[in-house]
Amino acid sequence: MSSVQPLADSPSQALRTVVHKFGGTSVADADRYRHVAQLLLARDEDIQVTVVSAMKGVTDALIELCRLAADDRSEWHERWHELRARHRGAAVALLGEASGPVIEWLDERFGKLQEILDALRVIGGLPELVLERVQGLGEVCSARLLGEYLRLQGEDCAVLDARDVLLVDHSDLGVVVDWEVSAQRLAEWRQRNPQHRVVATGFVARDRQGRFATLGRNGSDYSGAIFAALFNADELHIWTDVDGVLSADPRVVPEAVQLNALSYDEACELAYFGAKVVHPQTMSPAIKRGLPIIIRNTFNPDHPGTRITAQRDTVGPVKGLTLSPGLSVLNLEGTGLIGVPGTAERVFAALRNAHVSVVMISQGSSEHSICCVVKGADADRGEKALLDAFAHELDTHQIQRVQRSNDISVLAAVGDGMAGQPGVAARLFESLGRAQVNILAIAQGSSERNISVAIDSADATKALRAAHAGFWLSPQTFAIGVIGPGNVGATLLDQLRAAQPQLLEKANLDLRLCAVASSRKMLLDERGIGDDWRERHAAASAPLDLDAFTAHLVDLRLPHTLIVDCSASSEVADRYPQWLAAGIHVVTPNKQAGAGVLARYLAIREAGETSGARFRYEATVGAGLPVINTMRDLLDTGDEVTAIEGILSGTLAWLFNKYDGSLPFSQLVAQARSMGYTEPDPRDDLSGTDVARKLVILARETGRSLSLEDVQVESLVPESLRDAGVDDFMARLHEVDAGFDRRLRQAREQGKVLRYVASVDAQGKASVGLVELPEEHAFANLRLTDNIVQFSTRRYCDNPLIVQGPGAGPEVTAAGVFADVLRVAANQGAKL
Ligand code: ASP
Ligand code: MG
Repeated sequence: MSSVQPLADSPSQALRTVVHKFGGTSVADADRYRHVAQLLLARDEDIQVTVVSAMKGVTDALIELCRLAADDRSEWHERWHELRARHRGAAVALLGEASGPVIEWLDERFGKLQEILDALRVIGGLPELVLERVQGLGEVCSARLLGEYLRLQGEDCAVLDARDVLLVDHSDLGVVVDWEVSAQRLAEWRQRNPQHRVVATGFVARDRQGRFATLGRNGSDYSGAIFAALFNADELHIWTDVDGVLSADPRVVPEAVQLNALSYDEACELAYFGAKVVHPQTMSPAIKRGLPIIIRNTFNPDHPGTRITAQRDTVGPVKGLTLSPGLSVLNLEGTGLIGVPGTAERVFAALRNAHVSVVMISQGSSEHSICCVVKGADADRGEKALLDAFAHELDTHQIQRVQRSNDISVLAAVGDGMAGQPGVAARLFESLGRAQVNILAIAQGSSERNISVAIDSADATKALRAAHAGFWLSPQTFAIGVIGPGNVGATLLDQLRAAQPQLLEKANLDLRLCAVASSRKMLLDERGIGDDWRERHAAASAPLDLDAFTAHLVDLRLPHTLIVDCSASSEVADRYPQWLAAGIHVVTPNKQAGAGVLARYLAIREAGETSGARFRYEATVGAGLPVINTMRDLLDTGDEVTAIEGILSGTLAWLFNKYDGSLPFSQLVAQARSMGYTEPDPRDDLSGTDVARKLVILARETGRSLSLEDVQVESLVPESLRDAGVDDFMARLHEVDAGFDRRLRQAREQGKVLRYVASVDAQGKASVGLVELPEEHAFANLRLTDNIVQFSTRRYCDNPLIVQGPGAGPEVTAAGVFADVLRVAANQGAKL
């Protein structure tokens, strides 16, 4: 026995009989056979039947050999040698010294093959019967190889050539099994071969005349189901190279999810519409007997795969989305169709006679038109058939036209859970509508298991992604773009990345970073950018293009889009109105919008109000301190803000907290500058403009139409030093010392202190400047770079409401921005 531990596969007791089917990729070479054998030996089953395909590519090679020989092309000799060598090589690699008899056996088969090919050359044609005989050789060899290898591992294992038991008839609808005869023959075979492990050939069978037959291309799945039925198996495992059936093609939809369970009906619908599951016909023997079919991955055998059973679990309305490309629409239109019985019959008869299969049908209840979706390759024939069939009606204008549109795809949403559930179609159409996908035709059968829409193929990818997002993504998925990965931006990006797993797990909130742009270049990634955003942005080569940046985020069609502007740019702020109007949320610590031209500010507000998109900017005032939110709460609950006063600059707060006369003012500025408390040019702080901007933002929040020009600003930079270079300015700053000394002394004489304060009063008069305050005033007792804001309101009138705390630094500022992002998310339904 093998040393590998049995896999605990099913929660129930050990299964009695299981049929496994391995496709060509699972048995591509000697290594893969070994892997398959390990996998089989590790399983604890009473009866284990393994159905194998030919080694990858062998069936194609055999068919090609026949064609070459029939065309008398001498390459066939070489190809024949190659194919024999491939099989011999696999035998040697698998069986080593024990390979002798198998090589002999292989040589005999290939010798026969050579005779047949020679005969084809003489005949100069390829009779179907001969092809049927030859193309199954790969399976016969494959089963023998695996069987012998298992025997070499000490297993008593029987190799079943399906041609010895399976009897089939060919019909219009494919190959039909004679169950009675086949079961009878299998029973006889089992008498002679009672082993508990059996390896059987896929694909091949025998017809009623005793000739070799095959079950059609990819017929091994069918063989698997047939043997599952004949062996009365408990389960059929179809081993492939993917973990199971996915919700959509992962090449188109990166976030496609693996499906744990499907009903037979769902699997049939998905297969029909092009999801590579298993062909419905191949499943029918298993379905009839209610056998569970499990699709699983040879390369990842621990994965449970997708279980297809009779059971309908109606979790979620839609299980899978499929896309069938390369179709055409034929539309028959005319007043003469209305209320005339038999028109549909004539349409379908015409198409049937032209051998055109109809993929999808749609007719509105007006009966004014009938629309058929057909394969693109059949469209010419179909169109002609309809024109011929209705030639008379077209002549007499009872039918106006036969229209044809090419390059059509059908997108289908499949799921048992759609039945009787309102809103599913709405969700599909809404997703497609949001993605601006035009729908040409719609069909839903009354089983309500499938809704199909015909769309232009150019829209197909976008449509599939949008529909997938509509049904699968967490409704709290945000496409996030960050502009300005500087001090605050970079910190925010790190905070965002660090919090991501927890937000996803606890709140199902998926903040997907999809774009990072600096003033020079941008990094765009539809799958999301990870912790390596720094390196990847540094390595990015695309120059900044805000149009492309925006289009990228919107085209992702995620449920929400949010842009964080951590730049200080006015051009970026110019974009806010159009972003908000397009439903993109904007979060920013950039003061340009809040304090810039009033017209733009109003446009931003209006755009947000119209579209419902949010604009948040808490970090523009007091960094992470909840200044704006506190005020919003007051206003939203009906309070009235009469006055706002505050110390809104960390730099100026520090300077005047420190300034007690023991050091000249200029030296304190130099000290603050060397500690990084000031802007590179301290005049940006000392001028008071930044403070005035924050005051404008606060005043506008209360509904006042204030602009920067309306604020009376006392600059601490004297006229004479305004135009100097920075170094020159610092060198000459001592010129201001005497003046500050004087003001300090005057204040002290009255028991007061100096503070740089911003205020807007009840009349809307706004000013920022140096004021004298009593020593017990709240503003007189701050620490370090603390900011403080005091709201006097109708409710907080005797004793104002105060917000105080550190008002600068990348960590707290970024956290303020982040908190805004989370507020937007909460507003969109995230449960934080
Ligand atoms: N070897 C056959 C084919 O390639 C059958 C199968 O692999 O399912 O069609
Ligand atoms: Mg196959």
